[in-house]
Amino acid sequence: MSKDDHGREIDYLRISVTDRCNLRCLYCMPEDGVVWKAHELILTIEEIERLVRIAASEGFSRIRLTGGEPLVRLGIVDLVRSVVETPGIESVAMTTNGLLLPQMAEQLKQAGLQRVNISLDTLDAEQFTYITRRGKIEDVFAGIDAALDAGFNPVKINAVVVRSLNQDLLAFARLSMDRPLHVRFIEYMPVGDSCGSAGTGWTEADTIPNDELVTMLNERALAAGIGQLQPLSKTNAPKGWGPAQYYQFEGAKGTVGFISALSRHFCSECNRLRVTAEGQLRPCLFSDVEYDLKTALRAGDDDSVRDTIRKALKTKPDSHHNRVGTERLMSQIGG
Ligand code: SAM
Ligand code: SF4
Repeated sequence: MSKDDHGREIDYLRISVTDRCNLRCLYCMPEDGVVWKAHELILTIEEIERLVRIAASEGFSRIRLTGGEPLVRLGIVDLVRSVVETPGIESVAMTTNGLLLPQMAEQLKQAGLQRVNISLDTLDAEQFTYITRRGKIEDVFAGIDAALDAGFNPVKINAVVVRSLNQDLLAFARLSMDRPLHVRFIEYMPVGDSCGSAGTGWTEADTIPNDELVTMLNERALAAGIGQLQPLSKTNAPKGWGPAQYYQFEGAKGTVGFISALSRHFCSECNRLRVTAEGQLRPCLFSDVEYDLKTALRAGDDDSVRDTIRKALKTKPDSHHNRVGTERLMSQIGG
């Protein structure tokens, strides 16, 4: 296992496999999309496979494929299969907007993908189209059904909470009642093109701290007669590698989690590095410091890829120090 200079064990690599997407979420991408990187600037499938092999030999055992939208990347199912088969890799997960899961969930499961996180920020059809600037909510619902039918476990639903969107959070939490769905509320992070990412105008004031969120949800749940959220111990929480704090309503099949990257940041437990679609290795989501893996990969020399990984580990900051605003958008970094 690799350790960074602050004694943290870093064994989790999040790889953005594309900067392209079939949606244009307000907080993640500009309306016209980003200027797509030319294909030759993006890591090839073979380069990603090789990177995973080398990372595994450096002690990385858990991989998440993300993007942009990973399911629009040509060859994604084969990539999943080869990452799963890489010696040393114990677990492979994906974060997706779910739109293509009805066609692909079964193939992904057969290729060995273990977990999917599906992003969905609202249960209101109109608000969904507003947030994503083009999507239809029924397609995500179909994607969630497909993930459950294919046998993924756990299936997590990631909802970014934005104060000015005034989402119906209780309706979300209720998704955990009847099916084994794990709803996770994520604090909006003012990342990308500085605050007001991609021109939303949202600021730090739009981040609802998780403590406030738990109180708000409990009040609404009590008023609706479904009781309060009960905290879950780590052993009873759904499997995962992240820092969510989990709760459950009595009798619920799923859970409700809270991820607070800002109000109670989890830097001391950070276990990950990120690779952008262009092959830049980022020690911290909130810092624009990057190391050029692509050049190392294209030089054909495994040792210089290893050195790049070690350099990133050495300079991984102890904390993001509440810095907000990055040069890159989330879709380019890989959220
Ligand atoms: N397209 C896939 C999806 O939407 O799940 C994967 C990539 S997306 C960048 C990964 C996650 O980042 C999504 O759950 C999305 O909601 C989240 N995200 C994007 N921008 C964000 C922001 N500014 N603050 C918090 N989460 C954000
Ligand atoms: Fe696409 Fe995911 Fe970003 Fe939405 S959050 S624009 S689905 S990459």
